[in-house]
Amino acid sequence: MAEHAVVVAGGGPTGLMLAGELALARVDVAIVERRAGQELLGSRAGGLHSRTIEVLDQRGIADRFLSEGQVAQVAAFAGTPLDISDFPTRHPYGLGLWQNHIERILAGWVDELEVPIYGEREVTGFAHPGWDPTTSFLIAEVELAEEPEWGIRRDALGVHSFGRLEYEIRDGEVVYMDRGPVRVMVTEEHVGPTTEPTLRDLSEALIAVWGTDYGVHSPTSISRFTDMARQATAYRERRVLLAGDAAHVHNPVGGQGLNTGVQDAVNLGWKLAQVVNQTSPDSLLDTYHAERHPVAARVLRNTLAQVALLRQDDRIQALRDTIAELLTMDEPRRRFAAMMSGLDIHYDLGEGHPLLGRRMPDLDLVTPNGQLRVFTLLHDARPVLLNLGDPGGLDITPWADRVLAIDANYAGDWELPALGQVAAPAAVLIRPDGYIAWVGDGTDTGLRDALTTWFGSP
Ligand SMILES: Cc1cc2nc3c(=O)[nH]c(=O)nc-3n(C[C@H](O)[C@H](O)[C@H](O)COP(=O)(O)OP(=O)(O)OC[C@H]3O[C@@H](n4cnc5c(N)ncnc54)[C@H](O)[C@@H]3O)c2cc1C
Repeated sequence: MAEHAVVVAGGGPTGLMLAGELALARVDVAIVERRAGQELLGSRAGGLHSRTIEVLDQRGIADRFLSEGQVAQVAAFAGTPLDISDFPTRHPYGLGLWQNHIERILAGWVDELEVPIYGEREVTGFAHPGWDPTTSFLIAEVELAEEPEWGIRRDALGVHSFGRLEYEIRDGEVVYMDRGPVRVMVTEEHVGPTTEPTLRDLSEALIAVWGTDYGVHSPTSISRFTDMARQATAYRERRVLLAGDAAHVHNPVGGQGLNTGVQDAVNLGWKLAQVVNQTSPDSLLDTYHAERHPVAARVLRNTLAQVALLRQDDRIQALRDTIAELLTMDEPRRRFAAMMSGLDIHYDLGEGHPLLGRRMPDLDLVTPNGQLRVFTLLHDARPVLLNLGDPGGLDITPWADRVLAIDANYAGDWELPALGQVAAPAAVLIRPDGYIAWVGDGTDTGLRDALTTWFGSP
């Protein structure tokens, strides 16, 4: 294999996104992948949350995903749906799209960026601390000789479901197609072994729940997942950086794993690129752990809570009903929906304006060259200084080679998910990942420091 400045171990969603980010910054990057190709055994993740769609929109590729999936309200907490249609974002919804399609579309983008992928190669792994599994589930794509009970079933063992892989969302409801492969999920009586599950294991688990296996046959995939929760204590060990499932694993409830991994990649990509390109010292990489470790720690915490709430017991049922009732109230609904959709992520960049460390909204700007969306400015994964005050009022000439400076007007409100309206800033410095690194008050106080911290010395 040729030498490369950065080698990404694993071409799953996280590795693909990271490679794309690095390639945009003209870093010589390659992916080393255990699989021979992009084909994925089993459909795994069911889609994308709002913030991930935004992040893809920041690179100009959200439409590729939206055109293939089903837009729907997908955010939920322990099974209680959380509507985000009133959120201040261009994408106040999630997207139903199986992981194999997400990976295929990402791989297409990475291919356009000419990143080499070396298949059938392995890198050695890492061990993480965390919580051992208490329950396990079989998930499979199969055919059935008999018609099953479609939908979700709960009983003393836990949650189980039958659905078809192909579906449409009509009036917010999932409507399965009449034919095609069946996706089944069944909770096992005891935590299963780490060996690969067989058709016989699946048949026995189905009989334990439904009293029949519905003539299950022709599986295209059978796998086991658990409620094990683990997180690496450090995301960085010198030149090795962990992201995605290599850094954190947890139960799929809430659908946050792939989303968190893709967003890890977008946080890490530009920082790593600047270190490789020698515009920033390698201490910039420590901010990756500082910012992303707490995000996944919160995901682990909320999945542990959800798994506990989904247990079958009269007391837990009473607790679940109580939480569900709380979540019908507007303020709790907004807070939890912002958490589950990833729209409330706040990196601790110090005291200051509420926008500091939060995602930049995709505003419609008026510029001397016409109307422009903020996210369009981020397509090349470069930092942007957006001056909304006096034109030419901020001079960043020493950083002109790496920071795009734009004068613009914006007359509308500044509204953040869960927080509501915030004071309009005079200027904002936006990082390539779409988070705000500095907020101007009409002067340039703190701007040079912020530029140096995030984008290197002039
Ligand atoms: C049943 C189920 C449902 C889920 N539903 C959702 C959902 O709805 N929403 C959501 O956000 N997430 C969901 N997830 C989680 C999601 O699938 C993962 O979080 C996501 O795949 C993580 O992406 P990744 O790229 O970090 O890791 P992976 O997808 O695991 O990719 C890692 C890649 O690295 C390769 N690889 C592994 N080890 C090596 C090695 N040593 N050397 C070289 N290559 C290697 C693998 O072949 C793979 O291609 C679900 C998971 C399961 C099991």
